[in-house]
Amino acid sequence: MVINPPNISLPEIPLVAPLVKEFGIPVRLINDCPAGALGELYFGDGKGCRDFVYITISTGIGGGVVAGGKILLGRNGNAAEIGHFHVDTLYNVTCGCGYPGHWEAYASGRHLPEFFSHWCRDNNIVITGDWASSPSGIFNAVRNGYPGLSDFIEEFGRINARGISDVIVAYDPSRIILDGSVIQNNADLLLPLFDRYIDRFLRLPEIGVSRLKGLAPLLGASVIAHGYGTAAGSFLAGVDNNSG
Ligand SMILES: [Zn+2]
Repeated sequence: MVINPPNISLPEIPLVAPLVKEFGIPVRLINDCPAGALGELYFGDGKGCRDFVYITISTGIGGGVVAGGKILLGRNGNAAEIGHFHVDTLYNVTCGCGYPGHWEAYASGRHLPEFFSHWCRDNNIVITGDWASSPSGIFNAVRNGYPGLSDFIEEFGRINARGISDVIVAYDPSRIILDGSVIQNNADLLLPLFDRYIDRFLRLPEIGVSRLKGLAPLLGASVIAHGYGTAAGSFLAGVDNNSG
C-alpha cells in the first residue's frame, strides 16, 4: 500500500490487493527509486558498483541507495526520500509534503514552473506567453537566451547542487546515476551547473546520466517479479535487509 504520497491527495492507495483480485497472480510492490537502483545494479552503470546512488528528477525527486552492495530501505522503505532534503531558505517554496525549502519543490518537473514564476516575480522579470508552464519551455527559453534567465539557471544550478552535495555527504557514493525526464532532456544545461556548484568537501563521485533510456525502474521491477530477495538484499521493507 502507498501511504500519504506527497503528489496525490489520498492518505492511502491500496495497489496490491486489487491487482491480485483482478488478475489472480502474485503481485509485488516496490518504490520506483529503489527499483531504479536495482535496474542500474543489474543492467546499467551500477553493475559491479558497491556504493552508488540513483537519483530521478522527474515529476518528483527521489533516490535509491546501494551501500556496501546492499539496498538501503529504512523502516518503511523511505530511506532515500532525498527530494525532501532541505535546500533553500531564501524562497521558502512549499513542497507537496507541506514543508518549505525541499529540493522537490524547486527542481521537480511538477514544481519547477511554480518556482520559476516565484523567481521571476522576485526579480521583476515579466513573462509573456505560456511557455513558462512547463520545464521544457523554461529550459528552451534559457537555451534561446531569453533576457535575464541566465541568472535563473545559475540559481537553479545552486539549488540542485545543494541537493546533490547533501546526497554525497549522506551516502559517500562512488557513483551517482541521474535519471528522470528533467535530467534526461536537459543534461546539456544541468550537468555543468552541478559541476560548478557541488561542494568539494568529500571526494567527488562519478556523476552521469542513466543509459537505460528511462527504463531503470521497470527493469528493477522485473527483478522483483522473481521475488523480493535480490543480490542487493531483500526489497521488502521492514525485513532484516542483511538476511537477503
Ligand atoms: Zn517535501
